[in-house]
Amino acid sequence: MLPLSERLIMFIVKQLYDLQLLDWDIQDREQSIAEVRARLADDSKRIAAKQRVDRIAARLTELGTPRRQHEGAIQQIESRRANIDKRIFSGMVTNARELEAFEEEKANLQRQHSDEEDPLLEILVEVEELQDVDIEAKRTFEAINSARESEIIELQASEQALSQELPALYEQRNDMAADYPPVALATYDLVRKRRGGQAVALVERGACQGCRLTLPTNELQKVRTTQDMVQCSSCTRILVIA
Ligand SMILES: [Zn+2]
Repeated sequence: MLPLSERLIMFIVKQLYDLQLLDWDIQDREQSIAEVRARLADDSKRIAAKQRVDRIAARLTELGTPRRQHEGAIQQIESRRANIDKRIFSGMVTNARELEAFEEEKANLQRQHSDEEDPLLEILVEVEELQDVDIEAKRTFEAINSARESEIIELQASEQALSQELPALYEQRNDMAADYPPVALATYDLVRKRRGGQAVALVERGACQGCRLTLPTNELQKVRTTQDMVQCSSCTRILVIA
């Protein structure tokens, strides 16, 4: 039978491994919660889809003004042309010079008509293309939006479930930590912080399972026999015989 002090130390070191397991569990859950929260906060896909719909709508609105201007101008030109035709065909204008002036004005109006019509056609082509893109963009947004709505409900549920489990684990952790000598706990916390969350490493087949290096014979011997807390000479983790 080992002396009491030695049994106590072994107990503490073994229990530190239990603390390690609990801390890993807590850490995993905290990480899961952080991931869930990050996914909840990340609305970028939906925002991007909405921005695309808004950009198309803005462009369509933007095209509305020049479109109406060109259409209005064309209407005026056509009505002026119709008036001239009416006067020419009324037979009341017989003066050759006056007729010539009318023809000249008609040619002039034709040029103006082309000047208005060409940009209008360009606008109409763009509007037509945009209307197709608009339908597709709205559908895409709706699909992303409804998928996101369901995702949010799922994420909120899992955030709640994960968060509910944590307080009991923190309490368990506090109770467990209260049983350890402050020095052992301080070493544990320090190594844990420095070694990626793992302070205690099992020794299996003569190797530290924290850094995977084979322990020197004297170190291995020390872990097996000493009553002190032994740390791996390579990674500083607290060693526990498996
Ligand atoms: Zn090690």
